[in-house]
Amino acid sequence: MLLTGKKPALSIEITKECPLRCPGCYAYGADHLGEGSGLRQLSDFRGDELVSKFLTLVDEHNPIHLSIVGGDPLVRYRELNQILPELERRGIHVQLVTSAFRQLPPEWTKLKLLYVVVSIDGLAPEHDKRRAPATYERILKNIQGHKITVHCTITSQMMRRAGYLQEFLAFWNNIPEAKRVWMSMYTPQVGERAEEILSQSQRSQAVSELVELRKSYPKLEMKEAVLKAFLRPPATPSECIFAQTTHSMSADLTTVINPCQFGGAPDCSQCGCIASMGLEALGRHRVLQVQVRDLFRITTRVAKLRMRPQPARGITPDPFPILSSAAKEQASTTR
Ligand code: SF4
Ligand code: SF4
Repeated sequence: MLLTGKKPALSIEITKECPLRCPGCYAYGADHLGEGSGLRQLSDFRGDELVSKFLTLVDEHNPIHLSIVGGDPLVRYRELNQILPELERRGIHVQLVTSAFRQLPPEWTKLKLLYVVVSIDGLAPEHDKRRAPATYERILKNIQGHKITVHCTITSQMMRRAGYLQEFLAFWNNIPEAKRVWMSMYTPQVGERAEEILSQSQRSQAVSELVELRKSYPKLEMKEAVLKAFLRPPATPSECIFAQTTHSMSADLTTVINPCQFGGAPDCSQCGCIASMGLEALGRHRVLQVQVRDLFRITTRVAKLRMRPQPARGITPDPFPILSSAAKEQASTTR
């Protein structure tokens, strides 16, 4: 698929609306969609118009994997009740990320290619403060009858209390609706000074605790190599396989989010995104002595060459297209 110039994964912010106001939410960052341009300023869609435009966009990209994010996708649950079966019919694996502020529609349990990921940031006292009205009490009620992935973003505050991660895993390990647990780490923008940002020692501490905890809490579905990738994230977006293989679109279904789903200028050196770390670990894996990362790189460059417009007659083509492409990649910024 990369050879056709298309990215195999698509991520769409289905709505700009969300009833929560989580501190540090990247979707509502002031520069999420470029300097001074944020999600709230966009126009989004609803009803039949959303259903039809959303499916048209998906068909144009024809992804293998689709992430539906927001805002909170559950704001548009009526439209999703039409969209999700259509995606299933197309054989697309869908990951829907929500706060579960309202009941997950019962009909979603019938969809085999749908994975619902619920953001749960810490134990009840901390989570409820950050993510009301999607409190623990509501989430536990709203996920009944479903199998969900619990996704927790580790913050500096959590790492200040010894045993916090273990308590979190012990709680969700006992909840039948929780099929697996994933942990990310707070990813700041370049120059951000938020309280949530982990220090290097907290990051190392979190990784070594999780490497041990995965042995006792099998629901923590994160391989050791993925956890260790948090200690050495990709240096720039051009080094990030996740950013290079995922096309992220915002709620007007036109605006592209760069350089990755965080938008703005994310600080790759402090990236805590589980998807990026998963692909980073894969990228370091060797197949026949070649790093998978290099295979991605080569394929992406070949795709760029294939997509390069043919020069008009009489114009000398760029003799070093790969070199130019590499230089452009190196010039791309990180925040
Ligand atoms: S639920 Fe998600 S989109 Fe809504 S404010 Fe919280 S982090 Fe942002
Ligand atoms: S911040 Fe974005 S581009 Fe940078 S490593 Fe993380 S996911 Fe990749």
